[in-house]
Amino acid sequence: MIVSEIIRKKREGQAHTQEEINFIITGAAKESIPDYQLSAWLMSVFFQSMSEQETLFLTQATKNSGESYNWKKLNPKLQNFALVDKHSTGGVGDKVSLVIVPLAIELGIKVPMMSGRGLGHTGGTVDKLLSISGFKMDIAPEKAALLLEEVGACMLSQTERLCPADKKLYHLRDVTATVESYPLITASIVSKKWAEGCESIVFDVKYGEGAFMESKEKAETLASWLIKESKLAGLKARGLLTRMEEPLGTCIGNALEVEESVWILKNEFPSSIHKELAQDLQKLCCQTAAQMALLGGTRSDFEKTVKECEEILSSGKAFAHFDKLVRAQGGNLQWFEELPRAKSFDLKATKDGFVGDIQARKLGLLGLELGIGRKKMDDKIIPSSGIEILVGVRSKITSGDCIARIRSHDALEKSYLNKIVDCFVIHDTCPPRNGDLLWKILH
Ligand code: URA
Repeated sequence: MIVSEIIRKKREGQAHTQEEINFIITGAAKESIPDYQLSAWLMSVFFQSMSEQETLFLTQATKNSGESYNWKKLNPKLQNFALVDKHSTGGVGDKVSLVIVPLAIELGIKVPMMSGRGLGHTGGTVDKLLSISGFKMDIAPEKAALLLEEVGACMLSQTERLCPADKKLYHLRDVTATVESYPLITASIVSKKWAEGCESIVFDVKYGEGAFMESKEKAETLASWLIKESKLAGLKARGLLTRMEEPLGTCIGNALEVEESVWILKNEFPSSIHKELAQDLQKLCCQTAAQMALLGGTRSDFEKTVKECEEILSSGKAFAHFDKLVRAQGGNLQWFEELPRAKSFDLKATKDGFVGDIQARKLGLLGLELGIGRKKMDDKIIPSSGIEILVGVRSKITSGDCIARIRSHDALEKSYLNKIVDCFVIHDTCPPRNGDLLWKILH
């Protein structure tokens, strides 16, 4: 096949055959097609899009470019269990995965979760979990299949061996302004979930200032693509459309977010303000876990299951599953005490009023300076650095009140701290209540 002819075909808006897509994707994985041709092809897809059928071919070819897992074959004792995962399009302070895995186990489903590292201003589950000392996420499939049986979940990192074509193409999309294409995003996400070996998947597609998709409309369109293509791939799927304007919960930063997840799972918070500010996050975790149980068939009534999850969190019993999982993967939850403590910098409000907005995207980006994420692929994460938010939207504040606490190993410039204070937009009057983070459920 001639690559330039395949590019020309897409450039003219014609549909690809499965053979053409397989040829491009195999070439991407084996690096036999040069970057300039792959980039030109990506740009053609960006402008001309793809049909449902082409996107399925692309998803399948991407999945087939590397290893796939079949948990029930690896461990026949999993035969009678539903294997359900969730995927979030990413947010700031998004530690939902850490809370829902223990909840889902308690609801009787098995969770083979494969996560990625942080991307841009949004954090990644892998970076959060690897802040736990000893925690290992590159686990042999046979051991992971055993963990699924004995613990109820395994939390793995995407290895080089899974969808290598996606790794290549994602990197090129990132530097050629071709990320925001529905078929490309869909094939990238669904191929990894398909290869990961889950049977059902709940997508948490976020919209708002702190999200990958800023508008509700775009988030809804993406959710529909994800659900449609997952179903074509033989997976059960559902989408939650959720608001991401302000950070989720009180903590942003890897170890801090694990710490906040532990507070939620144990129902033991360091103060009433931490407990109050975690309410929306907790509700979202309960709704997500409930949808996972509905898809997996272990529960049938959404509202009742959300209530059940709220009761599980109030009792603190979900923490035992998290503790077991962390130990089984080599981690040590006593590590908080051992972690080299970063210095604390208290940030004070500069005027009286009500918190109208906490700008998630800006905070996420400012957090990169502290080492909570990466500006470049090889940047080092600093696990104990982060931002602790001590007020919520609608909180009444007086000038001089502590609104946030920064944890950093390095001294911080006043101008940097001021930029963080500016992310807290203060209004003269109390803004209206925003309501639930969950806007819509798509089937
Ligand atoms: N996350 C992915 O894994 N792929 C995309 O294309 C976008 C977000």
